[in-house]
This record gives sequence, C-alpha cells and structure tokens, in this order.
Amino acid sequence: MHEPDALTRELMAENETLRARMAYLLEQAERNHEIMCRHQAFDLQIVGAGSFPELVSTIFRVLPVISELDIVTLSLVDQDADIYTVMHKLGVDFDALPNLLFCEHAVALGFDLEQPRPRPLLGPYAPSQHCAAFPHPPAGLQSVALVPLLRNTRLIGSLNLGSTDPNRFTANLGTDFVEHMGSIIAICLENVISNEMLKYIGLTDSLTGVYNRRYMDRRLLEEIARARRQGYRLSCMYIDIDHFKRVNDTYGHQSGDEVLREISNRIKAELRMSDALGRFGGEEFVVLLIDADLEAATMVAQRIRASVAAEPVDLGTGEQVNVTVSIGVSTLSDFERDHAIEGVAQDLVATADSALYKAKAGGRNQVVTLA
Ligand code: GH3
Ligand code: MG
Ligand code: MG
Repeated sequence: MHEPDALTRELMAENETLRARMAYLLEQAERNHEIMCRHQAFDLQIVGAGSFPELVSTIFRVLPVISELDIVTLSLVDQDADIYTVMHKLGVDFDALPNLLFCEHAVALGFDLEQPRPRPLLGPYAPSQHCAAFPHPPAGLQSVALVPLLRNTRLIGSLNLGSTDPNRFTANLGTDFVEHMGSIIAICLENVISNEMLKYIGLTDSLTGVYNRRYMDRRLLEEIARARRQGYRLSCMYIDIDHFKRVNDTYGHQSGDEVLREISNRIKAELRMSDALGRFGGEEFVVLLIDADLEAATMVAQRIRASVAAEPVDLGTGEQVNVTVSIGVSTLSDFERDHAIEGVAQDLVATADSALYKAKAGGRNQVVTLA
C-alpha cells in the first residue's frame, strides 16, 4: 500500500468536510420538515376549533410546545368590552385563560399604526415596554415577538411570543413565518368571535341583554333533565311588571324600555350565577333557580320584589317613576319523575304563571307561591 499522496489526502479531507456538511444540512432539513409538519397540524387544529375558548386554549396549549416558546399571550382589541361581555355571558371561564388579554384600543398594542400594514416587533424583552403584552412574564424572559393580528387592514389584536433565548427573536430576523402564523390565527379568531356573537344574538333579548324565550325554553328542558339526574331542586319564577302600560302611556315607549332594562338589572342582581333569567315577551320575565327549593326561591322572589319597589327607576330624562312587580313561584315536583320532560317544563311555568295571576288579583307588588 502506498501512502496517499498530498492531493489524495486533500481530497479525502474535503470529502470528510463535505459529508459532515451534508449530514448537517440533512439534519436541518429533517428538523425544518418536522417543525413544518407540527405547524401544519397546529394550523389544522386551530382552523377546526369550534368555539372561542377552544381556539384560544389550543393556541396557549399547543403553540409554546411546537414553537419551543416560554410564553404565548394574546391581546385582543375589544372596544366597549363587547367580546368580553358576550364570551362571559356564554360562560367562558376567563380565570382559566390568564394569558388572554383585552385592550380598549389598537394603539395600546404598540404597533406603528402609520404604516398601511403594521409589522411584527422583534427584539430583546424590556419589562417596561412589554408589561402590557406579558403581565406575568416567566423568569428569564429574554426576547419577544409581538405579531400584529390583522383582518384586511384592521388590527384586531396581537400574538405575543416570548423566549428565554436572547437570540430567538432579534430585530434582523425574517418575519415571514410569524406573519403567516399571525394571519391564520387572526382569521380563526375573527371567525369564532363572529360565530359566538351570532350565537349570543340568537339566545338573548337585544333590549335587556337577558336570555330570550327560545333559549329559556331549551334551557328549561336541560335543567329539568339535570335536576332529575343529579337530584337537586329546581324552581321557577314568573315576574310581571305591574301596570306597565301606564308607564308607556305616561312617559312614552322609550321610557318604558328604560324601565325594562333597569328591572332586568335589579332582578339579575338578586340571582346567582347559575340561575337563568329570560325575558318571555313584553314586560314578563322568567327565572330558573338552580338548586333552590320553593322556600329558597320565594325568599329570592321577595328580595326582587323589594328591590324593585325600594327605589324609583331613573328614566334618564330627569324623570323618575315608581315601579312594582308581581311574582309567581313554582317548583319542580318529585311526583313527576316519570313524566315526559316537555310536559313537566310546561307545568312548571304554567304553575308559576297561575301564582302570578293570584299575585295580580291579590293587589300586585307581591309574591305568591304555588307548590
Ligand atoms: P298588569 O299589572 O296587569 O300586568 O298591567 P300591565 O299594564 O303591566 O299589563 P298589560 O299586559 O296590559 O300591558 C303590558 C304592556 O307592555 C303593553 C305593551 O305596550 C307593553 N310592552 C310590551 N313590550 C314592550 C317593550 O318592548 N317595550 C315597551 N316600552 N313596552 C312594551
Ligand atoms: Mg304582562
Ligand atoms: Mg304587567
């Protein structure tokens, strides 16, 4: 065997270097492919999210893992707290979503709004500058990316990514990838938010914001089934404003509407979160009291009656009007366990309605209970 000559040695060394380089590139390509697959799976997952809480909790749960981030938060522009209010009414548990943030106006997000399309802001983490995007930063947070969420040219929020690696987000880094992620998240958000808004509109009474009759009819069936299953009491209240026609006739329909809003607020203030309040039409409200027997429900009814009678309603026109309500109370009977739910639901409301009729006949501004 000859010793390899200088040229051969050089070629062999070069070959080694090339192989190493090739292996490195392959590894990188595989890694990138893997990252891409994970993100594609993420995209599919968020596109498929059926509700607002499902979408945001998926983002918070999955994105930090697949993108190897130490924190992900989401700021939403929510003028007049419309989104918050609707989601709250639909039962979204915001305590379970501490990284979901709301701001009143888009300027609070810190992007350059002079530009036609605000760009992502990447760079070192600065507590004073980023406290709104990261109110609870993880220890050792070093670099952040604030990605504008845009629908057409409207800024609907910001996706905020944070890493303990100082080199993860630097000002000169390309932003294509995060912008792509931002655009998909923005579409999904807008989609679920408008779906939830539609759902909300379909369930509520636009004048008072309480549930509408359609919702209450359905809820009543669900609650009866649950009360039977779990063995707790369910009671019902039928509330009707006394001589409401006079309010309209004396002060006008607008003032009548104001009274309806104020009365629904006073009723709501006496109820528990788990109770359901609906406007059944005109000046009539129905309340379902969960886990309340006739005695407990009657006490709540008395509180409502007293709170309405206690203070006149301010009509917002400088005028005030004294209003009272009559209330009928009924409860789900144990003897109806074998009956069909629909009939039981009708009986429950009809009994409360008969009790209400008695309260009217008895002179109004009173509570009547019928077992
Ligand atoms: P009672 O004490 O017997 O209940 O007398 P009442 O005047 O409250 O009852 P009645 O059923 O005669 O009148 C209800 C009135 O409610 C008639 C209707 O004009 C008014 N009304 C129904 N819906 C609305 C509404 O959305 N806004 C306003 N302002 N008035 C409404
Ligand atoms: Mg009436
Ligand atoms: Mg009335």
